[in-house]
Amino acid sequence: MPDGTTPRQGPTLRTARALRTAGLIPPGAEAGAAAVATRYAISVTDHVARLIDPADPADPIARQYIPDPAELITAPGETDDPTADGPFTPVKGVVHRYPDRALLKPLLACPVYCRFCFRREVVGPDGGVLTDAELDAALAWFERTPAVREAILTGGDPFMLSARRLGAILARLGAAPHIETLRLHTRVPVADPGRVDAALVAALRAAGKPVFVAVHANHAREFSVPAVEALARLADGGVPLLGQSVLLRGVNDSADALEGLVRAMIRARVRPYYLHALDAAPGTARFAVPDAEGVALVQALRGRVPGFAMPVFVRETPGGGGKKPVRA
Ligand SMILES: *Cc1c(COP(=O)(O)O)cnc(C)c1O
Ligand code: SF4
Repeated sequence: MPDGTTPRQGPTLRTARALRTAGLIPPGAEAGAAAVATRYAISVTDHVARLIDPADPADPIARQYIPDPAELITAPGETDDPTADGPFTPVKGVVHRYPDRALLKPLLACPVYCRFCFRREVVGPDGGVLTDAELDAALAWFERTPAVREAILTGGDPFMLSARRLGAILARLGAAPHIETLRLHTRVPVADPGRVDAALVAALRAAGKPVFVAVHANHAREFSVPAVEALARLADGGVPLLGQSVLLRGVNDSADALEGLVRAMIRARVRPYYLHALDAAPGTARFAVPDAEGVALVQALRGRVPGFAMPVFVRETPGGGGKKPVRA
């Protein structure tokens, strides 16, 4: 990076062969990983690959990104569209479930592909980018829907857009008088921190309205030095940062791991927002934590960390009811 904050990056690992060559899976696991890759995309950035300890079979970073043959087994209750966005889509790329806020999904690519992803049936490197005409229609929907006071960019990951394209979208949304705030949900600051450069931070200012960024991270070790520097560029650029996590078996399913995660967030000026219960997407059963256990873990955090570091434990209601606090 020209600013010298990020080490020189190697290629992103996108195939079972590349994972094996990098030593992230043993030779005997390549065929199984390749079978998973025919259905669900693989992407491990060089930055994330360096965070993984290949000698640790329980590595909490590896567990989030390294494919497992179990992904091809759909358990009872797992559905292709656990959040049921379909009925709430007024135009392609928009999801409008709450009166005051709506999602814009300009693309479906992500820097990494999480093995527990609730949108795994739709996200991926190919396809899913709105055409210019579709994007124009989606932005026009925001412009003619005055009840919407917050535009939330998600996907996929909106930080995968070029700074120029992202800036143009934010400028147009921000110019609508009824849009008061904007929000972007992203995994880029922890998955590919070098992308958060001066041009991207400047693009966020193009909205001319307050822009919040919600960062998806699930383990303290994701807050590496380059990730914390990327988050600092955003925070110093005047962007309030929120943290979003998913409660995941084998990643953050202990009070110590959750405490470590939220402490890493607040050290990086990220205010914990949601802890999501796992949505039952196909092939994700190995990550499931029972609700009662999740509630007890969150209760255990209370008193151990500052009150403002407490995330709200929520689940997406099946059938499109929106996010609801999880109770034991
Ligand atoms: C999660 C979600 C939002 C944002 O909800 P907040 O509770 O404000 O974070 C907005 N629209 C849809 C459709 C969502 O699923
Ligand atoms: S970054 Fe988000 S949308 Fe992309 S694969 Fe991970 S969970 Fe899914």
